[in-house]
Amino acid sequence: MTVTRLTLDLDALARNYAVLRDTAGVEAAPAIKADGYGVGALEAALRLWDEGARSFHVARLTEGETLRAALGERTATIYVLDGPTPGSQDRLRAARLTPVINSLEQAAAWDGAAAIHIDTGMNRLGLTAAEAATLSDRPDVVLVMSHLACAGKPADPMNALQLERFRAVRALFPQAPASLASSGGIFLGRDYAFDQVRPGISLFGGGPHDRPDARISTVVTLEAAILQVREVPAGETIGYAGAFTAEHDLTVGILAAGYADGVPWSAHPGGVVWFEGALRRMVGRISMDMIAVDLTGCETARPGEMVELLGANLPVDNAARAAGTTAYELLTRLSTRAERRYVVGR
Ligand SMILES: *Cc1c(COP(=O)(O)O)cnc(C)c1O
Repeated sequence: MTVTRLTLDLDALARNYAVLRDTAGVEAAPAIKADGYGVGALEAALRLWDEGARSFHVARLTEGETLRAALGERTATIYVLDGPTPGSQDRLRAARLTPVINSLEQAAAWDGAAAIHIDTGMNRLGLTAAEAATLSDRPDVVLVMSHLACAGKPADPMNALQLERFRAVRALFPQAPASLASSGGIFLGRDYAFDQVRPGISLFGGGPHDRPDARISTVVTLEAAILQVREVPAGETIGYAGAFTAEHDLTVGILAAGYADGVPWSAHPGGVVWFEGALRRMVGRISMDMIAVDLTGCETARPGEMVELLGANLPVDNAARAAGTTAYELLTRLSTRAERRYVVGR
């Protein structure tokens, strides 16, 4: 019997890719860092390549190496967002990776084809406009990029400010294609699309603006079996530290999923699951291997029944909010212990 099951719908991934690419109207270069947001970087990348993706973004050198090996003979540009970190040059070359230059030190340490990352206000990685200007005669700049800090909030004035700053700097590199938008930016309008967009979260089912979006299909479904059903009398506590007290008599299902399966410890209180047509609350602290949920009044609550923790009925953005975290963190912490099933319909 499968007790914890992760279903990863690669057809939904393909649909999301088409939506994101068509909305932007330009090349879509998937961001498949952190094992493809937990979905499986190699499975995701191979399917996206079949759907037409020819450029990818990863965070780390090792992610780029693994992806290059998986792609084999398939041609693709793989950008490494960390850039040419000290000592990485030989390996970047060996795997034919394209580093993203984030500083003048990195610019000096790399003499091949590269992307240039301009900081337009996030103050994370990237060159200032003045620093970028000193590189404008570099012949091997294959992409000029920046990253939006507030793309999840369309009304935030930071978006327009970063757009304006990016336009000014990219003019220094008229030959190079430009890229600004991640998932959120794609839905801010075509002004933000430039020549390439870099979707991540919305490929994998998260809404572009931190809430479910009808245009984006569910990719990840996480289900756990009920291991035991017990009656908990009013006044009894449930789980570690006695952190939850039954306010009346409860029927409680103990599920085979805990923080080692990607249910955040912060999910209590507030976390929910989907069973018998409704959301049910988590009761008691999250254990490593189990959670308790309130199934009072459910007629089919019995061992072996599967309960949805993420999926079409409980979108990742909503599950994340209830658990006090984000869709990004939920997905990137998905279980490696659960049984994984990839859905491929065609
Ligand atoms: C992670 C990342 C992306 C993808 O962002 P999403 O919000 O997941 O779509 C794009 N660009 C850069 C630089 C990133 O770090």
